[in-house]
Amino acid sequence: MTKRPPTALEKMGLNSPMALALHLPSRYEDETELFTIEEALGLGRFHSIQTQGVVIRSQVMFRPRRQLLVTIEDDTASLQLRFLNFYPSQQKQMAVGSHVRVRGEVREGYLGAEMVHPTVRMVTPDSPLPTSLTPVYPASAGISQTIIRKAVLQALRDASLKDSLGEFLPPKLLAEILPTNDWPPLQEAITYLHQPPADANTQSLLERTHPAWRRVQFEELLAQQISLKRAHAIRRERHAPSFEKIKQKSNVAPSIEEGLFKALPFELTGAQARVWSEIGLDLSNTFPMNRLLQGDVGSGKTVIAALAAARAMDHGYQAAIMAPTEILAEQHYLKMKEWFEPLGIKIAWLSGSLKAKEKRLAQEMIEGGDAQLIIGTHALIQDKVSFAKLGLAVIDEQHRFGVRQRLEIQQRVGSELFYCHQLMMSATPIPRTLAMTYYADLDVSVIDELPLGRKPISTKVVKATRRDEVISGLQDWLDKGLQAYWVCPLIEESEVLQLQTAVDSFEQLTLALPHFKVGLVHGRLKGEEKAAVMAAFKANEIQLLVATTVIEVGVDVPNAALMVIEHAERFGYAQIHQLRGRVGRGSADSVCILMYAEPLSLAAKERLQTLRETSDGFVIAERDLSLRGPGELLGAKQSGDAMLRFVDLQRDAWLIELAQVAAERLLTEHGDLVERHLERWLGSRTEFLKA
Ligand code: ADP
Ligand code: MG
Repeated sequence: MTKRPPTALEKMGLNSPMALALHLPSRYEDETELFTIEEALGLGRFHSIQTQGVVIRSQVMFRPRRQLLVTIEDDTASLQLRFLNFYPSQQKQMAVGSHVRVRGEVREGYLGAEMVHPTVRMVTPDSPLPTSLTPVYPASAGISQTIIRKAVLQALRDASLKDSLGEFLPPKLLAEILPTNDWPPLQEAITYLHQPPADANTQSLLERTHPAWRRVQFEELLAQQISLKRAHAIRRERHAPSFEKIKQKSNVAPSIEEGLFKALPFELTGAQARVWSEIGLDLSNTFPMNRLLQGDVGSGKTVIAALAAARAMDHGYQAAIMAPTEILAEQHYLKMKEWFEPLGIKIAWLSGSLKAKEKRLAQEMIEGGDAQLIIGTHALIQDKVSFAKLGLAVIDEQHRFGVRQRLEIQQRVGSELFYCHQLMMSATPIPRTLAMTYYADLDVSVIDELPLGRKPISTKVVKATRRDEVISGLQDWLDKGLQAYWVCPLIEESEVLQLQTAVDSFEQLTLALPHFKVGLVHGRLKGEEKAAVMAAFKANEIQLLVATTVIEVGVDVPNAALMVIEHAERFGYAQIHQLRGRVGRGSADSVCILMYAEPLSLAAKERLQTLRETSDGFVIAERDLSLRGPGELLGAKQSGDAMLRFVDLQRDAWLIELAQVAAERLLTEHGDLVERHLERWLGSRTEFLKA
């Protein structure tokens, strides 16, 4: 068989009758009504109207530019059509004497009433009108609606659809679960959406709340819920090593877990103690843990990760901690060194920026089992790394990994070689709707309490033109013996430019505050240089720290309770929330100043306002979701694979619960139907749902 190049439709993924059937219209045009030209002249102002007539004149004019003018008339009146771009074939079609049906808005032109670039259809005087609304499909450039419509119509007649769209959900189950009985069967619903009758409720079709849409959405969610529940059941059948708490006899050295507890400079908060007992229980199971530890910035998730690692190491297993950025990973590395090295634990560090030789050494340590604790970026899951005996994988800020990376992580730590326990950590709360859909196979623990002594942060929003005032306020602040951060604008397009801006601010502030020591930290500094600046800041040898976003995570200086963020309008919700979490850790009242430059987009304005009004991570995450959509929150933006095509989590949240109940019942009462339903909806996309 020779391979022919894919057609334009195939390139859009429309390569089977089923794919075409599920390619649903984004809107409709009403071509079911025809008006006389006289009526059109009156009714067609400001909205599209359809009329038809015979061509009585057709001429190409060259002034003021080349254009085709066609005049049509019927028994009532005449109308001029104007085409500024046209093909010779069009000109030929609309020759004098031919009949055309046109659709467009009527406006007052230079030579009287006219339609500019109407949609034109060649007809005979008695051509019938369509009886259904005309669908308008999402299409990539260069594909005409006519081609898609034809292909869809043909697909809908395909015999195979009876099978792939036919009803097989038990009527009894549907009757008991669906809220009303006006949701049509799937195949009917799909046909309806492609060809709604002339009198259909177009509003509800557009808003996707029509019963036909509901049925489609319900089925899609049902498939998703089933696959999540199944993943859950499959996980429970896998084996993972059980890590019970080890009680040491009095005359033996304490366990690593006990050693860590003793070395900690603080007591766990109530919330930390609770989540640790939840996680401890998971670790003692013989199937892999799949838990998300959620807690606001500064709530103390790291120590929980360390305790879990200690438990695994007590059983002779390796533990790995992975973070999405080098800086975050490095913070963990430093912290773990501080806690675990005194206990004699061997730690390996692995990141993309290591030299080849260092990397090889680290890999040898990991492979040979010398390294008990392994910390790094997603370099950890690359093929070359193989663990001697991995028992626990901690993934920090997992939503900041890309979808593909998360999939890699899943495949790697979930592979046959080592089903290990997994702990995800995130400071971004997952809104309920998301937790119920994408994360349904995840157990969730929440640290809902900050360590004692944290102060609320008061946030101010200030125009950049008041920079001088801000700097003099800063001076007063430092005069009191307190420290502060100055965060430089994020410039995503250019790291060089970002660095330049930081250097400029550093120089300006050094000049403006001669009695204080100003430090600068940015992403280009080497690890040890960065560490030196941070140490000096921590020791109050530096009073003002000018920084790029490298301080987003992991910095902890209680005496620094003021943060100025330049060009705050360029940061996202989560970034500011994280940054702001650096202050409010000491006894002083904390302040965060969000400086912005005009002009401010509407979204940025709303964002800054929300951030000023609340520091509640949950509220901020919900806002974030409604603004950006779940894809971006989940890190799915790049993949382009919308996981739910027809469901909008905000609009259709109530459907999720319905689908959950239905999924439960289908799995328990009609196990034989489950595969069919999944295949219908997910096909090859099942993999993505697991990420
Ligand atoms: P996050 O949840 O944002 O990762 P961290 O784990 O970095 O937070 O903790 C923030 C700071 O709070 C760290 O300096 C940590 O040592 C400290 N901390 C954690 N738990 C407690 C506690 N129970 N009491 C006091 N300080 C704590
Ligand atoms: Mg953290």
